[in-house]
Amino acid sequence: MKKIIAHLVILLFCLGCLHYTALAKPDKVDGVNVPSGRIPQDIKNNKYPRTFYPNTEKLGKGEMRITALGTGMPTQTPSNKSASFLVELGNGDKFLFDLGVGATDMLSGLQADYGKLDKVFVSHLHTDHIGDLASLWVAGWIGGRYTPMHVYGPSGSSPELGTKVHVDHIRAAWAWDVTSRAGTLPNAGGEIVAHEFDFSKTAVVYNENGVEVTAFPAIHIRDGSVSFRLDWNGLSFVFGGDSVPNKWFLKEAKGADVVIHECFFTPEQWMKIAGFPYKQAYWATTIIHTPPEGFGKIMSEIKPRMAVAYHYWNHRDVEFEIYERVRQTYDGPLTMADDLTVLNVTKDHIEVREVTIDHEAWAQGTSTEWDTAPRGEPATGLMAEWLKSGEVKGFNPPPTQPID
Ligand SMILES: [Zn+2]
Ligand SMILES: [Zn+2]
Repeated sequence: MKKIIAHLVILLFCLGCLHYTALAKPDKVDGVNVPSGRIPQDIKNNKYPRTFYPNTEKLGKGEMRITALGTGMPTQTPSNKSASFLVELGNGDKFLFDLGVGATDMLSGLQADYGKLDKVFVSHLHTDHIGDLASLWVAGWIGGRYTPMHVYGPSGSSPELGTKVHVDHIRAAWAWDVTSRAGTLPNAGGEIVAHEFDFSKTAVVYNENGVEVTAFPAIHIRDGSVSFRLDWNGLSFVFGGDSVPNKWFLKEAKGADVVIHECFFTPEQWMKIAGFPYKQAYWATTIIHTPPEGFGKIMSEIKPRMAVAYHYWNHRDVEFEIYERVRQTYDGPLTMADDLTVLNVTKDHIEVREVTIDHEAWAQGTSTEWDTAPRGEPATGLMAEWLKSGEVKGFNPPPTQPID
């Protein structure tokens, strides 16, 4: 009997250790938080594993990693989220270009270091490009970002159509949420800051730590859509949100390393998919978007090291035709991006793979910064006395550790 009890005690102890290990704070590797117990490996001689498992590879000092979080449409699907790309640099910086609905699902699947995800560059204010902003703002705060969230986006034809008012309204719309968490979570993470710039100008809108981001006009339905170019360490990344082919894109993207541009459906496909008559299908696919042949012509002009197409459903009945039509006007390096396509970019090599995520993955949890980040006083007066007095006493157990 004594032996059985001893074994039970050992078993319970081990289970306790396992529990503790699984939920421990992330480890810090080269200044980046990785899930506890993961040991990222160096990649040597461009020998990448066929599949990218998040947090298992060190990013080289001069390397850029681009992950497609979403490549689809406003009507996102479980396998095809709305537009979003994560750019990670060997200096530790991370940038999000657009954050369409569903993109934050992918960030949690990647077990990304939320503490570093504090910069979002928005091409325009359609939900399929910025609909997950509130979600990342709050989820990132819970998941380890104890500094403000920064949103860089264009002005519109009037102030109420610009990024600043958009962010102001998000802050106002989620006041109940954010004030309910203040005091428990470090205060600064609850802040969201808009950096609105003039959509009509080609201008540097971010310049820190050797990273320069330039915004330039795009043509998409109404005033207030832009594209971006990021330059760092001799590497360049260009991201087009939604636009028809335009002169600014041809100029700014010329010869860049990785160039991402929308590649929409053909009018005939859109008639079939959406049930539009031809006139409206042509308008949607060709007057406000860039169909496959247009995408190909853009890339033939600018000749990037890698052209990346996105913004279509990757359904088998349409994607091969989209590819074939691109190939009618472009024969250079091409990636038809899917959700979780990943590109590792150095000066002499571009590796294109897919990410395998754990669909049960949790965010990393609180980091070591949790212990020291400043907090305000817990909010008071959030609940009326009559409501509080409705609690049934004795149902919830009392604390087992000091809570003051
Ligand atoms: Zn779009
Ligand atoms: Zn759009």
